Amino acid sequence: MPRLHLPVVAEVTGVIPAAGAVPADPLVDGFARRIRYLRVSVTDRCNYRCSYCMPESLGDQLVFEQRSAVLTFEEIERLVRLFARLGVRKIRLTGGEPTVRKGIVELAARVANVPGIEQVVMTSNGHLLGELAAPLAAAGVSAINISLDTLDAGRFRELTGRGDLARVLAGVDAAVAAGMRVKTNAVALAGVNDGELVALCEYAWTRGAVPRFIEHMPMSDGALYAPEAELPAAQIRRILEGALGALVPADRSGRDPGPARYWRFAADPASGREVGIISAMTEHFCDDCNRLRLTATGALHACLGHDDAISLRDVMRRGGSDDDVVRSIAAAVTGKRAGHAFDLDGTGGPRKHMIGIGG
Ligand code: SAM
Repeated sequence: MPRLHLPVVAEVTGVIPAAGAVPADPLVDGFARRIRYLRVSVTDRCNYRCSYCMPESLGDQLVFEQRSAVLTFEEIERLVRLFARLGVRKIRLTGGEPTVRKGIVELAARVANVPGIEQVVMTSNGHLLGELAAPLAAAGVSAINISLDTLDAGRFRELTGRGDLARVLAGVDAAVAAGMRVKTNAVALAGVNDGELVALCEYAWTRGAVPRFIEHMPMSDGALYAPEAELPAAQIRRILEGALGALVPADRSGRDPGPARYWRFAADPASGREVGIISAMTEHFCDDCNRLRLTATGALHACLGHDDAISLRDVMRRGGSDDDVVRSIAAAVTGKRAGHAFDLDGTGGPRKHMIGIGG
């Protein structure tokens, strides 16, 4: 049985700063990185039980947050307004599984209507997108990353515990039909889906989507990490090049400095076919990180790979003013680390869980 520290949402380690001057530029960190992007986990609950994230085998060890501990829509909207005032322009709604949060379409619309917010995007397992893609797009969600680790229905079920591949594929089609920009995300796992990397790319490209592969990360104190399944970015590229020809870096100008590095194929520059690789383990991408992460319970994490967090919920629920919240945001940003500290043997990762922080 994996050793998980529960509850599943990471604890808060930061100290809420006492009153004082509000910093002039609260969203610039100690490495001169400017924050423009906030990932908001809207729930720690999920309708899937992915083996590397929150497996069914955890049974009673899986304890979810009390509903009263989770931020209300009003609290989320207040925080998004404050972040927008400070310079955040992009919000990602994630989870858990964001589509299982009751009222998610209303929440998306509220966030999209905040002055200053230019992009609202989502990360989802796709299970409910058949019904929700069109209303979410109408509410202002312009892009969606859909988790898709395999195209084999049996393997999909096994990996996701309760997943239904047909529903997810219908969800991808619904998102494309609703006019969202779509990316597919596969955690690349040796011995599991390494034989499907090319098929996953072809699947995405034929739908106008961008396929991406994510290196497996030792979240949860490495409890669910299998070093033998690690598929480093260089190996992912070798597999793709073996089948599809030489990869060259895609032009990064005009793109958000996201965690993925994008590649295109040297032999067919005109096709526009690209593939993204998120190499948190072997090729850090932290130098231009512009992100913060807010958990479902309002803990602000400056880095996925470290446990430090400050509870903005506590500041708000103690009656804190907007300036109090901003001081807390500034404290989290000031403490943002230079980069991840994951090790390939599964050590060095954070105690927190992907399900709590929102991936
Ligand atoms: N439920 C949504 C989904 O499935 O996309 C959003 C949350 S999920 C935690 C976000 C992403 O994190 C998914 O693409 C998932 O595959 C990825 N993920 C979860 N655990 C991971 C791990 N240990 N290493 C790398 N990626 C992981």
